[in-house]
Amino acid sequence: MKQRVKIVIRGAVQGVGFRPFVYRLANELNIKGWIVNSSQGVFIEAEAEVNILNEFLLRLASDKPKNSFIQSFEHSYLDLHGFGNFEIRESNDKGGKTALVLPDISTCPDCLQEIFDPGNRRYLYPFTNCTNCGPRFTIIKDLPYDRAKTTMAEFVMCPECLAEYTDPSDRRFHAEPTACPVCGPQVELWDSNGTKLLDKQDAIHTAAKYILEGKIVALKGIGGYQLICDAGSDEAVKLLRLRKKRSEKPFALMMPDIESTKKECEVSPAEERSLLSVEAPIVLLKRRKDITSAISGETAAGNPYYGIMLPYSPLHHILMKELGIPIIATSGNLSEEPICVDEPGALEKLKGIADYFLVHNRKILRHVDDSITRISAGREMLLRRARGYAPLPVVIEGLNKTILAAGAHLKNTIALNKGSNVFLSQHIGDLENIESINAFKSVINDLETFYELSPQIVVHDMHPDYVSTQYAKSLGVTSHAVQHHYAHVLSCIADSNIEGKVLGVSWDGTGFGTDGVIWGSEFMIPKGKDFFRVAHLMPFRLPGGEKSIHEVWRIGFALLYSIYGNGDFGLTGHNFKASETEIIRQMLDKNINSPVTTSMGRLFDGVSAILGIRRHASFEAQAAMELEFATDDVNTNDYLEYKIDAGENNSYIINWHPLVIDIVNKLNSGIDKNILAAMFHNTLSEIITDIAKGVGIEKVLLTGGCFQNKYLLEGSIKKLKNAGFKVYWHQRVPANDGGISLGQLKYSAFVN
Ligand code: ZN
Ligand code: ZN
Ligand code: FE
Repeated sequence: MKQRVKIVIRGAVQGVGFRPFVYRLANELNIKGWIVNSSQGVFIEAEAEVNILNEFLLRLASDKPKNSFIQSFEHSYLDLHGFGNFEIRESNDKGGKTALVLPDISTCPDCLQEIFDPGNRRYLYPFTNCTNCGPRFTIIKDLPYDRAKTTMAEFVMCPECLAEYTDPSDRRFHAEPTACPVCGPQVELWDSNGTKLLDKQDAIHTAAKYILEGKIVALKGIGGYQLICDAGSDEAVKLLRLRKKRSEKPFALMMPDIESTKKECEVSPAEERSLLSVEAPIVLLKRRKDITSAISGETAAGNPYYGIMLPYSPLHHILMKELGIPIIATSGNLSEEPICVDEPGALEKLKGIADYFLVHNRKILRHVDDSITRISAGREMLLRRARGYAPLPVVIEGLNKTILAAGAHLKNTIALNKGSNVFLSQHIGDLENIESINAFKSVINDLETFYELSPQIVVHDMHPDYVSTQYAKSLGVTSHAVQHHYAHVLSCIADSNIEGKVLGVSWDGTGFGTDGVIWGSEFMIPKGKDFFRVAHLMPFRLPGGEKSIHEVWRIGFALLYSIYGNGDFGLTGHNFKASETEIIRQMLDKNINSPVTTSMGRLFDGVSAILGIRRHASFEAQAAMELEFATDDVNTNDYLEYKIDAGENNSYIINWHPLVIDIVNKLNSGIDKNILAAMFHNTLSEIITDIAKGVGIEKVLLTGGCFQNKYLLEGSIKKLKNAGFKVYWHQRVPANDGGISLGQLKYSAFVN
């Protein structure tokens, strides 16, 4: 199957033979399309069969000319265009010269070689960088990008560094954060009271020793603090869980290198490319089952994936070289607060968690978390967009005012545009505590001052109680509310440049509907600023409201109760004890604190509970995720009974009664819960395809947090494609609420 991929490469790619290289490679692979240089980087569009395009993407990075260097590599798939040849186009600069701030770039091979060369003056120096690598977004105070306007300003360059910095033939010519052991920042090891124990190489060496002894070390990284411990030690990982009050949510890992990663996980070429990319995100990788793992079972219990990153800063490289073992590298924060960026904050917040602090004196100006990506349906899909990606813009044409989009409530990001360049902020987090709310405000302020913008319009979620909504309304400029699931749909349209009519399938855990009901299984046909809600789940109740998100057995019970009433559900050996359910029964009967919802995420929770997979969720979406993981070893195309009822105005209502009844019957007949989990997913893909057929629009997009579920996403894409639909899903912008601000901003084009 032929596809078109759009690629934007920024970095030292102009004047180094990059265009002829791409031209030759395209012709060798018989790829059609074009390449052009612009002030913003090299733009490429390429059309070919998918496997050829994959090879093209891999070889662009691996075979590139010797003197070229990639500082960012963005790609996304578009509709076929039908190019006849591959051509080098005339440079054009119609995009204008908005000075773009680059993201933080992982250590380049040249710097890495110097760091481990005993004869080099930067041997084992943890702040080595050059024009091609190093911190950017996290150290820039103001534009234009110049050392004086970074947190490196306080370090006066030594004669040798200055000579490199002013020599046009040197790799460090105008490398703004350049430094060396003589003139640059230094690391220190502190105890938990902030008392300095050691500095420089001794500090790193001793931190490594403590990690090997099972201690927890807080490390000041690129975009904030990380908490680090030996991932091979059950005791160390358990201790970190206990101290961080994080009982089950998986921890991210840092592996010494790609070889050790392949010993623990299955790594496809696309996954390897992501791991080794300049963005260096956390990549979700399938754990190998044919090995004895060197990683503690406490790291990600019950999860067939590990979130893995490779060392991306010199400090990480040096530490990992000393250690040579996998480590936990999780956010240095209290649960759900932004990560700490400075020493006073870290000492205060991480007291009682970290035994030691590996700190340094290069200031971090803004928090930027590690990004997370997953390869689904053969493509990279960002789940958390932060380090390595932020603050690169997403282009939306047709914006002629300055607009601020305030985002959602969970996984908040904000967006702000300068013309057609939309700056989507780094991941901010859940706006549930004062620290996150302050971070939300400071990120807005930060982007506004950075690009000297002052919003004329503000867009926000329709939920009246969201902090982001209230903040947006307090600004005193024209404001517009955007329905949550419609923002998801528009976000996906912007992410994939979808043109023309499209059916949006917007499935997630929660979002405020136009009727005040909690929505989450919406099929939407966009009509400019309006949409037609063409299908959704038949509503069900959430006994206890918010409480049911954690006690998901309540949802399972409510689903069964609404079908079977006071019977025992005909469910033998079920998971519902009369002692617990009696009060829920009364809540449902008397309709006390039991709001209705059409949330697909909550249906996942309920089914997870009915199948006995998870009764209590200790973090958001845990029950739904474990329902996906249950499909891991199952291979079936079978699906459950389902029924789609007719709604008003040619709409559809997904009747989940037959589905739940079929689950109960099959459980009672002894069918394995994992098989039923797979059948549940397959049923949803059938339902999507059936409704798409009924609606009859050729293009279908899949958005919302539910489509981070790889089994659901891939199954639905396959069924839709087999039925002749063109299918779109998220690529560079998260399908979850991290993408909402972009969708809100897209919406503003209809109202300004
Ligand atoms: Zn470098
Ligand atoms: Zn120096
Ligand atoms: Fe959502």
